[in-house]
This record gives sequence, C-alpha cells and structure tokens, in this order.
Amino acid sequence: MRIGLFDVDSHNFPNLPLMKLSAWHKSRGDTVEWWDPGDGRYSIVYASKVFTESVLPAITNADTVHIGGSGIDLKNKLPYEIEHTTPDYSLYPQFKFALGWLTRGCPRANHGFCITPEKDGCRSIKTADLSEFWTGQKQIYLLDQNLLACKDDRIDLIRQLAASKAEVEFGGGMDVRFMTDEVIEELRHVRVKDYHFAWDDPKEDLFPQFSKVASSGLFPARKIGVYVLTNYWSSHEEDLLRIYKLRILGYCPYVMIYDKQKFVDARGRLLPDVWDRYTPEQIFHFKLCQHLQRWTSNRALWASCQTVNDYRPYIQFLTKWPDILRRHQHENHLSQF
Ligand code: SF4
Repeated sequence: MRIGLFDVDSHNFPNLPLMKLSAWHKSRGDTVEWWDPGDGRYSIVYASKVFTESVLPAITNADTVHIGGSGIDLKNKLPYEIEHTTPDYSLYPQFKFALGWLTRGCPRANHGFCITPEKDGCRSIKTADLSEFWTGQKQIYLLDQNLLACKDDRIDLIRQLAASKAEVEFGGGMDVRFMTDEVIEELRHVRVKDYHFAWDDPKEDLFPQFSKVASSGLFPARKIGVYVLTNYWSSHEEDLLRIYKLRILGYCPYVMIYDKQKFVDARGRLLPDVWDRYTPEQIFHFKLCQHLQRWTSNRALWASCQTVNDYRPYIQFLTKWPDILRRHQHENHLSQF
C-alpha cells in the first residue's frame, strides 16, 4: 500500500502519532511518504492536526482518509497496537531527541483551562516503559502532563530515565505537590534539562512545597521557571501574592495570561473590539496582568524592580487608567449619534 502522511500544523515539532503510524505501516511492508496533493493516488492518507486553528485542506487523492489529533476532537486515539509502536524517527531527521509518553492523565480535574483531564483522564497512569520509544538518543523529550502524579510507577519510571543517562526534558513541567523527599532523591540521578513548575490555583498555598524544592539543592531556584496563571480565577492581589512568595524563594515566575489573544494583538495592543466584548473592569484586570507579565518576564526588570510598584509602566498605567476610561466612554457616547 502507498501511505501518505500529512502533518497539518507544521514541521516545527515532530508529530508523534504520524511517527507511530509510519513505523507500523513500514513494519507491514507498506510505502510511507509525506502526502503530496499533486503526486498520484494513495491507498490511505493520515492527517494529524494538533491545533484547532490549523487549516485542513481537502484530501481528494486517497482511497481512505483518516484525520485525527486534538485539533479535531479530544477523544480520537490510535489503536493500541499502533500506539505502542516505537516511533519512526526518520520522519523528522532534524530532531535528534526521543519523544513519547510514559504516563497519561492528570488528577487536577478543577483545572478547567486545561484539556488534559478531559482528554487523557483524571488519573496519571503509566502507559509505557522508556524502552518503548527511547532508542539510545542523547536527549529525551517527555510529553507527560503529570508524571509525578503517577504514584504507583513514578519511582520506577524516574529510575528508567536515570539509567538512560540521557538529558531529559519534562515538556509538561513537574507538579511541585509531588516533590516528596523520595522523588527528590531519585531525581538527583536524572540529567534533567531544566525544571519548571506551575502555581495555577491562588487558593492553594504551595509555598511550603516550593520552599522544600528550593532548599533541596536539586537545582538552583533562580534557574527554575514557575508558571503563574492569571486572568482566570484570581484577583490582582492573589497574583501578586504568588509572585512575591516565589520571589522570596528565589524562583523565576512566568506570568501566563488566560485568553490573552482575545484581548490583544501580537504586539500587545488592545484589539479594536475588546471594549465590545469585555467590561471596563475586565479590561483593567487584563492590563494589570499584562504589566505583571512584562515585569516578571524581563530578567533585568525583575532584578531591578523588587516590587511591581517599582515598575514604572505599571504605576503610569494606574495613573492613566481614569483618562483611558473617560476617553473610551466619550467615544462610545459619540458613536451613538
Ligand atoms: S496540572 Fe497541568 S496538566 Fe494537570 S490539569 Fe493542571 S495544567 Fe493540566
């Protein structure tokens, strides 16, 4: 059979399902190549779409077309036999790392901003041993969303990573709540590329856990990024509290703004219709988040401004906001005539 593969999103990151499909078909003696709309007929074309916004063109030169990926829906899955095939790394020769999942799922079901609990379940469960997708590469990229939440198997999996001696990147970050003494001791034997955590829920006090990791000597806190979710369920004061607590411990907070693209363009300017879609209070809150993000993400500013009140654009914005609001209300009033 002649098999065509179509990575709908791009080739900027390897598409794991296509790599597994390729390996599986090759093992059956099929010819596998990238799909070309103008190059004859295919027996089967597999199109994989990770992002909803990616545009999928019509595929008319195949007897059968299979379309999958989280950009289509959250339920489609590869058949078990294909899911557990070692990926065909030759599809993306520009990438040198091994890629895969050791676990799937995450218990943080209250994180409505994340698709993982719905897509992969509300428990972190082991799905593979490292040997299923690691073929001796010097680097390993893990797609796991919450490996440390897999209480039954995490120690064994961490030991597998340590034994590989490869540099390991935890693409989904780590959950600081599961950084127990035992986990920390095991992680000392793994060549972790970099650590990053998240502090999403303002109602959870994760200061003790972050404090424990910082004092463990596992990795310098100043090199550990911590994502701080804003504009979702927290007040400005709650955002600041998390940022200041992380600062005390020496971490680098990265402010994440929920729905940012609905407020501003790529250059950070408010979209023209934002006043029609959000209340002034929501826009004000968003702008505060944006200033927090600019302050914390610039290392020089972060070092020189001990508090957000030392960050001049933030103070200027607070001063200017009444004028901005008055101007908007005036224009809005005029537009009614
Ligand atoms: S902890 Fe991470 S993976 Fe789990 S639900 Fe929250 S954001 Fe998603």
